[in-house]
Amino acid sequence: MKGIEYVESVLDIVKKRNPGEIEFLDAVREVLTSLAPVFDKNPNFIEAALLERITEPERLIYFRVPWVDDAGKIHVNRGYRVQFNSAIGPYKGGIRFHPTVNQSIIKFLGFEQIFKNSLTGLAIGGGKGGADFDPKGKSDNEIMRFCQAFMGELYKYIGSDMDIPAGDIGVGAREIGYMYGYYKKIKSMSDQGVLTGKGLTFGGSLVRTQATGYGLVYFTEEMLNNKGLSFKGKKVIVSGSGNVAIYAMEKAIELGAQIVACSDSSGYIYDENGIDLKVLKDIKEIKRARIKEYIKDKPTAKFVDNYKGIWSNKCDIALPCATQGEIDEHGANELIKNGVIAVSEGANMPSTLQAIDLFLENNILFGPSKAANAGGVACSALEMSQNSMRYAWSFEEVDERLKEIMSNIFNNIKKTAEEYGEEDNLIIGANIAGFIKVANAMLAQGVV
Ligand code: GLU
Repeated sequence: MKGIEYVESVLDIVKKRNPGEIEFLDAVREVLTSLAPVFDKNPNFIEAALLERITEPERLIYFRVPWVDDAGKIHVNRGYRVQFNSAIGPYKGGIRFHPTVNQSIIKFLGFEQIFKNSLTGLAIGGGKGGADFDPKGKSDNEIMRFCQAFMGELYKYIGSDMDIPAGDIGVGAREIGYMYGYYKKIKSMSDQGVLTGKGLTFGGSLVRTQATGYGLVYFTEEMLNNKGLSFKGKKVIVSGSGNVAIYAMEKAIELGAQIVACSDSSGYIYDENGIDLKVLKDIKEIKRARIKEYIKDKPTAKFVDNYKGIWSNKCDIALPCATQGEIDEHGANELIKNGVIAVSEGANMPSTLQAIDLFLENNILFGPSKAANAGGVACSALEMSQNSMRYAWSFEEVDERLKEIMSNIFNNIKKTAEEYGEEDNLIIGANIAGFIKVANAMLAQGVV
């Protein structure tokens, strides 16, 4: 059987088995269609039914999360954890708290995580979790009670050698702290390696806060350098204003770029003098307020109440760091019309499949999320190493390792793309390189 026939037959099965799970099916299609040539070279992968197995989670857990708000009213949310693939290491991946969370989104994120984690070169399998809880407008106590209720169920399924959750959208150091505290209480033991993204005084790693954003910029700088380009003097749009976006902006500015726009779900700000990160951090990290506040401090900047409109502004480099599907065909066309040279993904799959096709057709340098944003989970794995050693590295040591990991990812996926005759298609390079490592491990471990 030819590789492409095998891929098509498995896509059919996955479609039938997961009706209506649009995001998951898109993610599977994106990966599987890149892999056809791998099966032409390795027919034993077909015999081992690797695609049928890798597209089916090893385990999917969902549970009720009841909690009480400050007014005494009872709410019920739904929590999830998908333990997708443990061939190369324990399940690893973030927890997302956002009202859009559902089974399809968690499975899409967990599926992507398998290949992303494989690309880091570290021994971590793929997992993901979350709840359809909206943290917006909740008090600190409500957040704590929700985290405790969530962990009150999740604790049964995680462990430092089994499954190690971390943050994602809506889950940062505060939430990880509350979840870790509750885990420790119910287990009556200190097991720091069970969660990553912890506070520095109880097993957290330096650089973890910055890692996804810094890693994105390290990766993108490699991609630009490879073509004789760099961030220096470039105008950059970074969508989002959460943890990934803020530290991507910080590192890009350090490398000589100017950030002209960023956003949150209420809209975007454009500042032709370059976004003032100190003002933005105060709004987002301390006040946890809406982005419009920025123009109070910077009256020459403008606020537009449509976050998707951010892509219609002129820039050299676009770093989508908000959420999945945020650059559609329209956004991609606007960026291309305005002369963008590179798009590199800080969020998980922020470009739709149609947008990606447009970037590739127009020879835009494209850094796919599973490679470009792997710095966060890579630094989580470094946090796990430090927890096991009961020793903490300095900021410089962790940062140096992160830089090296991002550079290795770029070189590995570029080389793989070339081997398969797709020189500049880093999507194909990332999918194939990420898959082969997991595939060989699955093959070696038999039918499990
Ligand atoms: N949520 C991040 C991601 O999408 C980090 C996961 C982790 O550190 O485990 O990769």
